[in-house]
Amino acid sequence: MYDARRNLLAREIQRQCRGKLKRDESLAKHTTFGLGGTADLFFSPADLSDLAIAVPLIKDAGLPIFPLGGGTNTLVRDSGFHGLVISLTTGARRIEIGDDEGVIQAGASTQVVSRQCQRAGKTGLEFGCGIPGTIGGAIWGNAGAWGGETMDRVNWLRGVDLRTSREIYLKQSDISFGYRHTNLPTDLLIVEAGFRLAEGDPKTIAAEMNRMLAERKSTQPLSNRSSGCIFKNPPSHSAGALIDSAGCKGMSIGAVKVSDVHANFMVNLGGHSTEDVLALIARVQKRVFQVHKIELETEVRILGE
Ligand SMILES: Cc1cc2nc3c(=O)[nH]c(=O)nc-3n(C[C@H](O)[C@H](O)[C@H](O)COP(=O)(O)OP(=O)(O)OC[C@H]3O[C@@H](n4cnc5c(N)ncnc54)[C@H](O)[C@@H]3O)c2cc1C
Repeated sequence: MYDARRNLLAREIQRQCRGKLKRDESLAKHTTFGLGGTADLFFSPADLSDLAIAVPLIKDAGLPIFPLGGGTNTLVRDSGFHGLVISLTTGARRIEIGDDEGVIQAGASTQVVSRQCQRAGKTGLEFGCGIPGTIGGAIWGNAGAWGGETMDRVNWLRGVDLRTSREIYLKQSDISFGYRHTNLPTDLLIVEAGFRLAEGDPKTIAAEMNRMLAERKSTQPLSNRSSGCIFKNPPSHSAGALIDSAGCKGMSIGAVKVSDVHANFMVNLGGHSTEDVLALIARVQKRVFQVHKIELETEVRILGE
């Protein structure tokens, strides 16, 4: 039954759409951790009109769906994902910067958006200068740094519910969000959003961004493969400090290691199995709980059964 629906969807997308449809696509190459199995189907629409053709087909197929951005906050299990991964990184990455609002498509790079705003003399998104991944992923998880958070700047977003093919328009006040969290449903594909911007001096903004980037470079293992911070900071605590003081820095399983540079990063030094990462996550959680009586919650999204 599943196979028949998957095959029909693949055939119809290939017949009707201009974008790329791949079968059994390795997700390791679409994530910064570089691990994990394949997606049964991986679709990158050519543009938004192509997406509009695909949406009713996706709805009719009823397969599990996962919108993937830059894969910088996603860990894929070795068993992969039995369903359709949809990516907007080639077909929806337009950036339009207006006087007091930027209208940005979900597949745009957060770092590129941040830099273009700086060049246009717009302040508000400079905190994103070092956050890898896409605007869609940044909205979904309310990414942030240096006190700035994505959802604080979102005026509205537009997307589509892939389960019902209904178009969705939400204002910021319709969305509940907090630290690295929104209540956006998993079947919602964010397509574009309007971001609140203000006038700023390009040189002053650039200086602030340079400061953030330099600090990031000296405190994060940027030359290794990782998913950024593995755990959320518990209220009033730094996850990195808790992990460090629990003696977990440098702990490893296989070729996956708790970074010596930043204890809340796990780095992939050439491993082949996500199971090693998951086992290391569990070991760190257990140790931190033993020492501090605090439960660490993962920040990375874990995909697959
Ligand atoms: C070196 C490094 C540094 C990092 N530093 C930071 C930091 O300072 N602050 C921070 O907050 N994060 C940081 N991260 C984590 C990560 O970069 C952010 O969370 C980023 O915003 C995720 O975007 P993405 O496109 O890669 O999302 P993905 O990993 O592709 O997806 C993450 C989630 O978003 C959903 N999603 C993605 N696109 C869409 C869409 N169009 N519609 C609906 N849902 C979507 C996915 O389904 C998934 O649930 C860092 C990561 C790395 C590797």
